[in-house]
Amino acid sequence: MNDIRIDAAYPGGNIIVERIDGDHIYVRQDLRDTKGWWFYWNFRVRGAAGRALTFHFTNRNVIGTRGPAVSFDDGMTWSWLGTECVRAGADDPSFTHAFRQGDDNVRFAFAMPYLQADLERFIARHKGDGHLAVRQLCATRKGRVAERIHAGNLDGHPVFRVLLTCRHHCCESMASYVLEGFLDAVLAPTEEGKWFRANVEALAIPFVDKDGVEDGDQGKNRAPHDHNRDYEGESIHSEVRALRAFVPQWSAGTLRVAFDLHCPWMCGKNNEHIYIVGSSNEALWKEQTRFGSILESLCGNSVPYRAAGNLPYGTDWNAPTSFTPGKNCSRWTSELDGMRLSASFEFPYANAGAVTLTPESARAFGAHLAAATRGYLE
Ligand SMILES: [Zn+2]
Repeated sequence: MNDIRIDAAYPGGNIIVERIDGDHIYVRQDLRDTKGWWFYWNFRVRGAAGRALTFHFTNRNVIGTRGPAVSFDDGMTWSWLGTECVRAGADDPSFTHAFRQGDDNVRFAFAMPYLQADLERFIARHKGDGHLAVRQLCATRKGRVAERIHAGNLDGHPVFRVLLTCRHHCCESMASYVLEGFLDAVLAPTEEGKWFRANVEALAIPFVDKDGVEDGDQGKNRAPHDHNRDYEGESIHSEVRALRAFVPQWSAGTLRVAFDLHCPWMCGKNNEHIYIVGSSNEALWKEQTRFGSILESLCGNSVPYRAAGNLPYGTDWNAPTSFTPGKNCSRWTSELDGMRLSASFEFPYANAGAVTLTPESARAFGAHLAAATRGYLE
């Protein structure tokens, strides 16, 4: 009765099936060109309705703090499966799922994915809005289109420009929902949206590693260096090359704020709260701290952010050794003319303290980020 089919043959898919042994499936994440180890996976199970299957991960634990993410509608919507079904022992990490009758097509993933199809749904939601323009940043190495999205004041004479970049590390999908929340706020029929559309042109690069997002790569620590270590010398990644050429001339000295959105490690210390990666530049760290307190004052309990949780330079992984070789995006943007506040944000995959994160709460945080940006610029 081996009619169970497990595959990753769709955008964002990533799995290696080692063997199927009755109700026990042995799988591991596909590391591809990753230097070292990472934890992204995303697979589909068909033909398992009515059965209970246990999925064993054979290359260390790759299950986060709220269990696997699950989708019953081909990846349109996701929820957390929870940890009841998980056995996270170091020797045999696994989870068990009882497929209901009729559940003939179920996806599981490390966290909630965000793909081209999700971006297109976002764009469709704002169709006809003259304050949103989707243009081509470049063609990717594999021939896809990498977008640049302009939102807000598009008349060519905004008071401020703001840059948002996302998915330098393609597996860091939760950050994309934060980006959506920010752009939604810029376009919203609110007093705040109005202020943005009068004063600010936001430029968002939703997928700096578009091929990696769609192919389901890890992206982090990609060989020979990943997209966020590509801002020095001649860039090897086409999106970064295009971004470095485009942003300075687009800015014309009016770019004031740049946020590069990331997700941290899967769990543990410094990976279960939202934070700014502190700059080694003292003056910039001061601006980051000032922004942090504005942001904290706007975030409620639903998406907790504490400025005290920011990671000062020289602490934990935020040390010189993490940044060689190769310059990262926020260091590069910090050196642009007129820049005041450039920062990398880490938004966790599954929880911020006791609060479970979802696409909705990530979008809510993105809206707070927009509100704080206004507070900071005003
Ligand atoms: Zn990252």
